[in-house]
Amino acid sequence: MDALIKPIRPNKPSDAKLPEARPAELDPSEFLRAAVLPDQPRPSRAEAEAAVQTLLSYIGEDPSREGLLDTPRRVVEAFDELYQGYHQCPAEVLDRTFGETAGYDDFVLVRDIEFTSQCEHHMMPFYGKAHIAYTPVERVVGLSKLARLTDIFARRLQTQEHLTAQIAAAIDEVLKPRGVAVMIEAEHTCMSVRGVAKHGAMTFTSRFTGMFRDNPAEQQRFLSMVRGPNR
Ligand SMILES: [Zn+2]
Repeated sequence: MDALIKPIRPNKPSDAKLPEARPAELDPSEFLRAAVLPDQPRPSRAEAEAAVQTLLSYIGEDPSREGLLDTPRRVVEAFDELYQGYHQCPAEVLDRTFGETAGYDDFVLVRDIEFTSQCEHHMMPFYGKAHIAYTPVERVVGLSKLARLTDIFARRLQTQEHLTAQIAAAIDEVLKPRGVAVMIEAEHTCMSVRGVAKHGAMTFTSRFTGMFRDNPAEQQRFLSMVRGPNR
């Protein structure tokens, strides 16, 4: 949405422009809890499998042929896995923090968090890496929690811009750090295997809050640590 999207070609770093800083404007109450409540009415599993049968018929298949008999069940099971983020609570992941920072006052960066998400326009995968930094005030969170947080948001229908903004806003809201920086690089299969069918085109999005938003030098330091030297 208001995160910046910059499709550029890989292997030509001179084409890469620095992402701009944008303020966080998301309402955390909209995405910090589980999106599906346990008692919320939903279609049954049988109805979901019947919908897959309909799609099989639509593409010209015979859903009753042997090779496809179990396909609706498998597809729905795959959906359960790919979209489990709707049933998970991002705020809970960040809940357990440690107060002992031993005077550490620089940012903490976790680089190269691999993820796979599904684009909300085509329900096709996009995948890549998230890089997340935050500058703790008092509370720090276990490093694996940033990867868990990324997975929860990634296992929902997404745009890359929303995924970027939601990760930043969740950390901002729960940990109340001095600032958050999130950069995501991803390849979208809706662009690489259909449509314009361009393999290898990467899309970059970024989101900065607090000291990262206000201080271009900190953005630069974050971006140079994300990009080098071991890349
Ligand atoms: Zn798409």
